[in-house]
Amino acid sequence: MSSDNAKKLPLRAVPEKDAATPALPFDGTPGGDDDAAQSDASPSTCVYCYGAGMEVVAGKGARRCRCREQGGRTKMLEGARIPRRYDGCSLHNYFPAPNNGTQLKAFNYAFRLVREFPAVDRGLLFMGTVGVGKTHLSVAILRGLMERGVPCLFYEFGSLLKEIQDSYNKISHTSELRLLAPVYQAEVLVLDELGASKPTDWVRDTMMQIIGTRYNDKKLTIFTTNYLDARRASTDETLEDRVGVRLRSRLFEMCKTVHIEGEDYRRRYDEQQKS
Ligand code: ADP
Repeated sequence: MSSDNAKKLPLRAVPEKDAATPALPFDGTPGGDDDAAQSDASPSTCVYCYGAGMEVVAGKGARRCRCREQGGRTKMLEGARIPRRYDGCSLHNYFPAPNNGTQLKAFNYAFRLVREFPAVDRGLLFMGTVGVGKTHLSVAILRGLMERGVPCLFYEFGSLLKEIQDSYNKISHTSELRLLAPVYQAEVLVLDELGASKPTDWVRDTMMQIIGTRYNDKKLTIFTTNYLDARRASTDETLEDRVGVRLRSRLFEMCKTVHIEGEDYRRRYDEQQKS
């Protein structure tokens, strides 16, 4: 910026709750992690102020960063709808199985996404059989991003479809829209168990509408699925069989496909408990 321009556009303080950029619930309670925000690019650095505590509002000036708002992080975590079972899942307690390159790779993709956000243009599609840690890693990404002040949302795809169906049957079109607005708008969304619902025409149309909207708006989405691209047996269904060719094609562009192999972690846990 030239010194002339700098004179014309001084950096002014703006009110903390500005209509153009609504304050998001994320907290920097004194003594909390946020106070320890570092100035390097570690995953816990706020993406809005990089730990400085002030954020710039385009064309207006600077204000106290949204990450410093009291109680905000708790609200953000509650609003993310992460299932209780996955409450404790983070990148810190994801342990790739020994000699399993796919799990290590998946962890690295997850770590990098959290560290590099918002300079990330594709989400992740975690593909693999049951219990290999796809949901764990997806939740870990959301947790890491929320620690940086990024509002996130988690939905198990089947429950989302059921909620849409219920709201549609019981009340009116508007309730369906109210339900879908956060799904469309979430800065980062996890859609867990893609393809698990029986692919009726309605399910396919609705999946296409939701994912297509996020695709058009270039919103970052993380998917998990138990369906693979290749058939291992002639009776296997592929992801394309479950979601349709148009949707699979969009997913290639929206996400990096990450295959995770390994045993069912729950089974391993069960065997360890017995021995
Ligand atoms: P998937 O979504 O692939 O079916 P989950 O992510 O639900 O599997 O994992 C099943 C359980 O095993 C969860 O409790 C999860 O926390 C745990 N788990 C899976 N993989 C790992 C791992 N590599 N390190 C730690 N916990 C894991």
